Amino acid sequence: MSQISNLGARIAADEQLWADFNAICDCGGRLAGTDSERNAFALLEARAEAATQVRGRSIAVPYRGWSAKSARVRLPGGQWAAGHALVRSVATPSGGLTAEVIDLGRGTPEEFAAHADDIRGRIVLVRHEPMFAAGTIHRRRKYMAALEAGAVGFLIAGPVPGQTVAGSSGRHDGPGIPAAGITPQAAAALRRTARGWPTATLIIETEEAPAQTRTLLFDLPGRTGEWVVLSAHVDGHDGSESAMDNASGLAAVLAVMRALASQVTEFRRGVRVAFFSVEEWALTGSAHYVAALSQVERRTIALNVNLDSVGGSGNLAALTSGFAELEPALLRVAETSGIALRTVRPLMQNSDHANFALAGIPALRLVAGFDDPHANLRYVLTPSDTRDKVEESELKQAALLSAAIVADACNAPPQDVWQWRRGRSS
Ligand SMILES: [Zn+2]
Repeated sequence: MSQISNLGARIAADEQLWADFNAICDCGGRLAGTDSERNAFALLEARAEAATQVRGRSIAVPYRGWSAKSARVRLPGGQWAAGHALVRSVATPSGGLTAEVIDLGRGTPEEFAAHADDIRGRIVLVRHEPMFAAGTIHRRRKYMAALEAGAVGFLIAGPVPGQTVAGSSGRHDGPGIPAAGITPQAAAALRRTARGWPTATLIIETEEAPAQTRTLLFDLPGRTGEWVVLSAHVDGHDGSESAMDNASGLAAVLAVMRALASQVTEFRRGVRVAFFSVEEWALTGSAHYVAALSQVERRTIALNVNLDSVGGSGNLAALTSGFAELEPALLRVAETSGIALRTVRPLMQNSDHANFALAGIPALRLVAGFDDPHANLRYVLTPSDTRDKVEESELKQAALLSAAIVADACNAPPQDVWQWRRGRSS
């Protein structure tokens, strides 16, 4: 209890948190492979070392580099609308891809099934939906459904008038279809009429080449060889500051490091901070990290606490990845900290915690604004994901809860950790 109130006082007095958040936003959208991403890593490394007096270590992460040179769509009226190529989209042929467009609305499995005979040879149009809500159908599932049904292109319309939407296509390598985010106005211009399906021309120009980024780790050892891994992803999307997703999580991690650094040596378990990248590349950085761990190393990790999009709303949820036995401990820590927390149990493969969970390591994602369509999180992946959507008080609350969860997990009795592990439902 005194430990928690001590944490509260430290984080309340932490003026660096807001400065860190702004400095990370100043780096830009941090798309993997850009100077923006590299500058953000350098900034995080310097600030984390200053906070802990611990040197970071980097693991090289090879991945298939990709960048978009241009993306646009010619609408039936002949005018051109802006597009945002989805990450790892294939390019269109020179001259573009011209085809009829079939609007499948939200893009549910039912809509794909009902139009199974209409999709082949056409461009599928679906809607982006709030990502942090129960029942959300991830963009990558819609892309895969379009690909499997024989579509020749994929368009996804964002929620914000006048703005396109970004995100990953879900393609790893090999074949795929051109895929881009568009504005809601462009989607409206692609509606079916009495004359039939509208025809559009999609142009996407890309460059692909092998690339390398890194995972940046900081080990603050405890009394045993066990760890709690605190993680956040560095990369984001161009065209915005990627402020909520995920400058908020990065700044909160730095605040947790400052709050706990002097205490960890007395904890049963240490804190390992992991800054991952290529999260927007289908969680590549964390997948690479977890895959390289031996079974013994996996057993030394008691919990992964992954901070992704923890500002933009004062309402926090813990996505517990099926680890039901974690939930009472999280709720106890939240109540002791005076913070309302909702727990959401199904495994959601929407951030790096999923790779820990799939390897049998208890894992949770802390996220703000879950299931709230009015929260600022609705702007994530749009050009409006900017720092003005986040309040300093939201970051302090997220940092406090994260620090309290990490400290509690570092000191949990071994039998509790054993319960967390065995409790995962599939
Ligand atoms: Zn994210």
